[in-house]
Amino acid sequence: MQRNNIINEYCVSSHLKDYFSKEIVTWFSKNKRKLPWRTRISQDNFSYLVFVSEFMLQQTQVKTVIPYFERFVDKWPSLKTLARANHNEILVFWQGLGYYSRGRNLLKSAKIIVSDYNGKIPVKEDELKKLPGVGDYTAAAIRSIAFNKKAIAIDGNVKRVIARFFGLEGAIEKNLRTIYKFAEAICPNSNNRNYTQGVMELGATICKPKKPDCLQCVISKHCIAYNSHKTLSIPLPKKRLKKKKLKCVTYLAIKDNKSVLLIQRKDKNILKDQWELPSTEWNKEETYEINLNSPIKNTKWKKSEISFSHSFTHIDLFNSIYLSKLSGNSSKLKKTSKSRWINLQNLSSYPLTTMSKKTLEMHNLI
Ligand code: SF4
Repeated sequence: MQRNNIINEYCVSSHLKDYFSKEIVTWFSKNKRKLPWRTRISQDNFSYLVFVSEFMLQQTQVKTVIPYFERFVDKWPSLKTLARANHNEILVFWQGLGYYSRGRNLLKSAKIIVSDYNGKIPVKEDELKKLPGVGDYTAAAIRSIAFNKKAIAIDGNVKRVIARFFGLEGAIEKNLRTIYKFAEAICPNSNNRNYTQGVMELGATICKPKKPDCLQCVISKHCIAYNSHKTLSIPLPKKRLKKKKLKCVTYLAIKDNKSVLLIQRKDKNILKDQWELPSTEWNKEETYEINLNSPIKNTKWKKSEISFSHSFTHIDLFNSIYLSKLSGNSSKLKKTSKSRWINLQNLSSYPLTTMSKKTLEMHNLI
């Protein structure tokens, strides 16, 4: 009861609001990491750089994003140049970054901004949220970081900082409404660019999930989790779901030592439109019907000595590879097969799934 009173008081206290934002903004100005989109704030294309970085950062860590970001803005330095790119180029570029729908949505959004907004990224929340791939969080992040508007951008780091600062016991998911309420109540009316990035940065570098560095934290004086010695139990860690263990067989067919058989994924999942080596369905048991599932008529397949496991978010997939080396005359595809022979020299223009790329690399084909 006493804690709730404190929280209610905190929620309405302008003193606490000033304290929180002032400490965070001051700390951020001295301690921010030099991220490539941050350091180019004086450039004319700054809002575009923030726009690209926010798409890339969805579900991906900063250190993974940085080299991709640098190469992306070298290749497409403005929204207008990006809008002229084609779908395949973006997918090829996005290889290794994962979650390809972000690349597709980034391109679609760039085209819409050029055609409907005269090439200028919209500032209004409702207009931003109409763009493909821009939800509540991304719209708020773009509005505050690119345009310095008051907008409540709440990522995983911000949720953790707010939950600890206000002493919200239990799992983050159970406290989401309260977290949003407090985040809104404590958000300042000015300097939102630095404030938004400051809270995120504090969560990423000081108020870390496992070992928060409270002695270095500028808001520890009023942090409830710290002052009640509950930083390790707030928030309660998520229960990890056990990953499914599945198996598949991949067919690695090489024709005349210069082409491999690939197929383009047409289903609507996250790997849509990428190219891969033909494979069986993913099952609990490895199929022994190698010839039945083979994409090529009357071919002998030999099990490769190389096999590996590939980890997806919810699945660990064990991949057995079967090899076949053919000559032009003996390489008739089955009628039902939608595969195509692709010259090894042209592979770099095809967006390959990570698993197929790994298979080709392990067999020294790329
Ligand atoms: S004092 Fe500790 S728990 Fe509280 S916000 Fe700072 S780092 Fe996080």
